Amino acid sequence: MPGETVKVVDSNGRFLAWGAISPRSQIRVRIWSWKEEDEIGADFFYDRINEAVELRKLLIKPEMVDAYRLLHAESDDIPGLIVDKYDETLVVQFLSCGIEFWRDTIVGILAKITGCNQIYERSDADTRKLEGLEPRNGILIGPDITRPIKIREGGIEYWVDIVSGQKTGFFLDQRENRFIVRELADGRTILDCFAYSGGFSISGLAGRALSVTAVDSSAEALKLARDNLKLNHFDERSVEWVEADVFNFLRKLRDQNHKFDMVILDPPKFAPTAAHVKKAARAYKDINLLALKLLNRGGLLVTFSCSGGVSEDLFQKIVAGAAVDAGVEAKIIRRLGPGPDHPVALTFPEGTYLKGLVVAIK
Ligand code: SAH
Repeated sequence: MPGETVKVVDSNGRFLAWGAISPRSQIRVRIWSWKEEDEIGADFFYDRINEAVELRKLLIKPEMVDAYRLLHAESDDIPGLIVDKYDETLVVQFLSCGIEFWRDTIVGILAKITGCNQIYERSDADTRKLEGLEPRNGILIGPDITRPIKIREGGIEYWVDIVSGQKTGFFLDQRENRFIVRELADGRTILDCFAYSGGFSISGLAGRALSVTAVDSSAEALKLARDNLKLNHFDERSVEWVEADVFNFLRKLRDQNHKFDMVILDPPKFAPTAAHVKKAARAYKDINLLALKLLNRGGLLVTFSCSGGVSEDLFQKIVAGAAVDAGVEAKIIRRLGPGPDHPVALTFPEGTYLKGLVVAIK
């Protein structure tokens, strides 16, 4: 049966590991444990979930932040399971056959350990298809969710649409980078590209940016972004929200000779896997080149890639190439990545995905 526990042995029949079988996936077995004495069951998952929760207690100051990733799949020793905490609500994703098999057990353990009385499932990521699993969304425990949930992050509040927003509703992995944008924003005019629900835009305003122009192709995202601006009591006119394709909009701004003091580029995954790298590299080069051309002297480019297929090294090369072609002299003043609630197990370097640079131009 898909997801069942199997014993993995070497050619001599000697024990190697316990894993979960996934007949449809290229990754046929995902490993639960390398220890023969481990029994894969409720106690085993209880201990691992508990470890992940304990680690967050060390990393997250609840008086500052009430939304974070509680469990980060392989890197928290439970392949296929993502758990995000938004205030008192948990959002879970079951992304592999193995974890799907233990779904009810996991939900019970999560409720017990966290005390959260509302658990929502967002198992609608594309990766489920590779495991032969159907997408599934809906409430698992507690009252149904009918409106966005309010979260707190370093004095800023955001509405999060966990039912139909992107990922599990918010880009929790960018939290520390939102703080950095806030630090660097003072007195600057900002262009926030791929703005989603306005995380960077509002962080910029909180850091006393002069003005913000925010672009996204999704009308729903921009509606939430407007609500977020209101929630934080900023003047409605302090941000110009633009519903447009960033590639076209950057060209339009260039043709109109617009300039900014900070440009943020946080595009969606252009290269989910290594097979898409070439095309993705061209797209990254394109937007970074245009963004660098839009900067005033002394301006800052805050640029990201969340593509697993694009390494940190390659990303830096792409941005360097863009700077040469834009004819600007530039230096890296910060290297960015996800916050500590998105750990990467040393045994799982494939878990590295989000990378970013803050580049200052002369
Ligand atoms: N910066 C955001 C997350 C960005 S996610 C944050 O920190 O919260 C990527 C966003 O890009 C999504 O909101 C998606 O709607 C938008 N998007 C994808 N392709 C786009 C395009 N070609 N032009 C404009 N926006 C696009």
